[in-house]
Amino acid sequence: MNAVIDFRPRDAGCADAPVLRERGQREVFCGLTGIIWLHRKIQDAFFLVVGSRTCAHLIQSAAGVMIFAEPRFATAIIDDRDLAGLADANDELDRVVGRLLERRPDIKLLFLVGSCPSEVIKLDLHRAAQRLDGVFRGRTRVLNYSGSGIETTFTQGEDACLAALVPELPAAASAAAPDLLLVGTVADIVEDQFLRTFRAMGIERVAAFPPRRSTELPAVGPNTRILLTQPFLGDTVRALEARGAKHLAAPFPLGEEGTTLWMHAAADAFNVPKARFEQVVAPLQERARSGIARYREALAGKRIFFFPDSQLELPLARFLSRELGMQLLEVGTPYLHRQLLGKELELLPAGTALSEGQDVERQLDRCESAGPDIVVCGLGLANPLESRGITTKWSIELVFSPIHGFDQAADLAELFARPLNRRDRLVALER
Ligand code: SF4
Repeated sequence: MNAVIDFRPRDAGCADAPVLRERGQREVFCGLTGIIWLHRKIQDAFFLVVGSRTCAHLIQSAAGVMIFAEPRFATAIIDDRDLAGLADANDELDRVVGRLLERRPDIKLLFLVGSCPSEVIKLDLHRAAQRLDGVFRGRTRVLNYSGSGIETTFTQGEDACLAALVPELPAAASAAAPDLLLVGTVADIVEDQFLRTFRAMGIERVAAFPPRRSTELPAVGPNTRILLTQPFLGDTVRALEARGAKHLAAPFPLGEEGTTLWMHAAADAFNVPKARFEQVVAPLQERARSGIARYREALAGKRIFFFPDSQLELPLARFLSRELGMQLLEVGTPYLHRQLLGKELELLPAGTALSEGQDVERQLDRCESAGPDIVVCGLGLANPLESRGITTKWSIELVFSPIHGFDQAADLAELFARPLNRRDRLVALER
């Protein structure tokens, strides 16, 4: 293949395909989970969950607690006295925040993170954040968002967090304001690769949101073009558009093809000459293609079923079917946001079974009768499926791992090849 951009002839894919919409029992994690990658990204931020002991257990077990490090997340436990209305939860919260910020002057941004219990007792964390922001302004910003699991899925935690941060972004008044904003949390190593590649194309003023330090918030305004690195940021996009920014529609940077088209959307918007784009991207594409090729034999023809969980399902399905030849049995997603995922839908093979939302028992029946080689699902479904002899891949692992961009394309393929390989070895041992 000689063309740098592989606009393979295709039909309209799944742009107008029917979608099975289900509204039944769901098996998903809550938005508190986002704290695990967000606290690593914004290095001077602290996430104070206002929740129950269950919330505390979730965060501590998911994030792991290093006893020698000062953690940058904690839970202010709502106890029986708060639930019974015997204590003023706001007074207690003020006391906890006061003690925390006195002990930790390194915290420059504090998020009060709502949970199911704080929503059930109608604790107004927005007002609490405004009150505390007034008290600590000048040394620590205090914001709030909800990570509650009521009617949400786990990646919405990041969306809610970033949407809460958008009003803090300075207005783009100076000539140094970024023209291109990469929006969504990715590993630092991936972010550096993206920034380097865009600058090599001549797009000099490019920045990432969220930034690594809350004191380095990028400016935003009518000249800002936003390119999403993650597909689950609908509220954040709306908030940025309300500040004048323009969203660049593109597939997501997963795999060689997705990354090429994603970068091309920005190159197009900034009139990067074709020759320069190709010069910068060609060696990266070549590396990605040869890395992916190592896994094609193991994955081609394998049947994959996606349960709705991370909202990464469509871009992953596109990558696995188009670049690795996997067969898509059903691609389920918690929400199908057409403004953000339209370009992905166009690339999915026509006839792909798409579903939005969940009725878990019915979906499990469909999955079993489809007979997949591998299932992508949340942790709650993985063990029961494995016990029935079905190979699984945890969707949450795909959010924690560096999988975006050219240099990570082979690692992303390997994440699917590995469990299939493990199953083959187990089957061989049992013989
Ligand atoms: S926010 Fe809700 S779903 Fe999440 S751990 Fe707390 S109680 Fe459970």
